[in-house]
Amino acid sequence: MSKEVWGYHEHPKRREPEWVVHPQTSAVREGLARSGFGETSEALYLNSGFTYTDSQEAADAFTDQTDHFLYSRFHNPTVAMFEKRLAAIEGAEHCVATASGMAAMFASLACILEAGDHIVASAAMFSSCHVVITEILPKWGVTYELVKANDKAGWEKALSKKVKAVFIETPSNPLLEIVDIRFVSDLAHKVGATVIVDNVMASPVLQKPLELGADVVMYSATKHIDGQGRVLAGAILGSFSYIYGKLIPFVRHTGPTLSAFNAWVLVKSLETMELRVSRMSESAQAIAEFLEGHPKIKSVRYPGLPSHPDFELAKKQMSAGGTTIGIEFAGSRREAFTFMDALCVIDISNNLGDSKSLITHPASTTQRRLSPEDQLKMGITPSVLRLSVGLEHVGDLIKDLDQALSN
Ligand SMILES: *Cc1c(COP(=O)(O)O)cnc(C)c1O
Repeated sequence: MSKEVWGYHEHPKRREPEWVVHPQTSAVREGLARSGFGETSEALYLNSGFTYTDSQEAADAFTDQTDHFLYSRFHNPTVAMFEKRLAAIEGAEHCVATASGMAAMFASLACILEAGDHIVASAAMFSSCHVVITEILPKWGVTYELVKANDKAGWEKALSKKVKAVFIETPSNPLLEIVDIRFVSDLAHKVGATVIVDNVMASPVLQKPLELGADVVMYSATKHIDGQGRVLAGAILGSFSYIYGKLIPFVRHTGPTLSAFNAWVLVKSLETMELRVSRMSESAQAIAEFLEGHPKIKSVRYPGLPSHPDFELAKKQMSAGGTTIGIEFAGSRREAFTFMDALCVIDISNNLGDSKSLITHPASTTQRRLSPEDQLKMGITPSVLRLSVGLEHVGDLIKDLDQALSN
């Protein structure tokens, strides 16, 4: 076999379609770089380094004169396939993959912040994001203010002074509060702030923050993007100027790199993400409707139900209600535990966005690190549960909930 077929630059390339393809097509095709063997599926380049045909090629590669992979902390062919594919689905100019959602969250902010900067964030958020904003960044002289999701006057006040970045989680985890991305982005841009949206709960399938005015989107790819409980990963998407000007110089040297193996798992996950998330969201809608009328359930929080306080806004910025339901159980923590323990299809777990349906008691697990006051501010009482709806038959899930509730 001749040496040339091994090289990244000698991939047989077919003609690209001359029309703009749908995201579902991008999800299966975009970013595919075949090795020269003509493999159908994406190849796994599980290697840390790369070689050069001569010293001049190495020198040129390091001065960006040629398009050559250098080292897998900077970039890797399998990771690049995942990044290109996700960027095409999201409609973003570029994407950087990271080792976890938290690595993505931290890097998305840390690459633009310096001591003395002020940030504004939505009050209800994933507990580790809350720790980064309220405990870690303040140690380095970054001040913050939290605003309740639908407090318009609060956002107006917080964004009437100099702000470097706005961090929004919508819908929020676990109680699915909705922030008006367009409204907050317009206010933020007037004071020169960069708007970052944690789009984990909606996934790239149900909400497009960049189209709604945000500058940057971040994901825990551990959730719906893998969606099958296998790998940890994250991603940050935005404009060329943010990614090349701010983010890449930061991540290249601090090293929150995604492994090629995990990227290979994820590039295949993206092929089925739209099918999975659409089905999971359809089932979640039916389950939310079933739970809402049940006497053992005090209230149901789901963006696809008219009882959600921001139902109209959710309908405007999301294409469906999502895969996660917030449940307030009528009864004590002990009774909520008894209900969870009686489930026989749905697993008890702290993850979400998975093909397996999972139920969580946030107050004792995921949000446990927050003070009781902060928990209450987010509406997390001891009887709140979070249900992540998976891919099992919706009839079996409703039956499982019904039998556990009639205990
Ligand atoms: C899980 C999650 C994260 C963190 O992602 P990891 O992959 O666990 O690091 C951030 N934000 C939200 C909303 C999440 O659900």
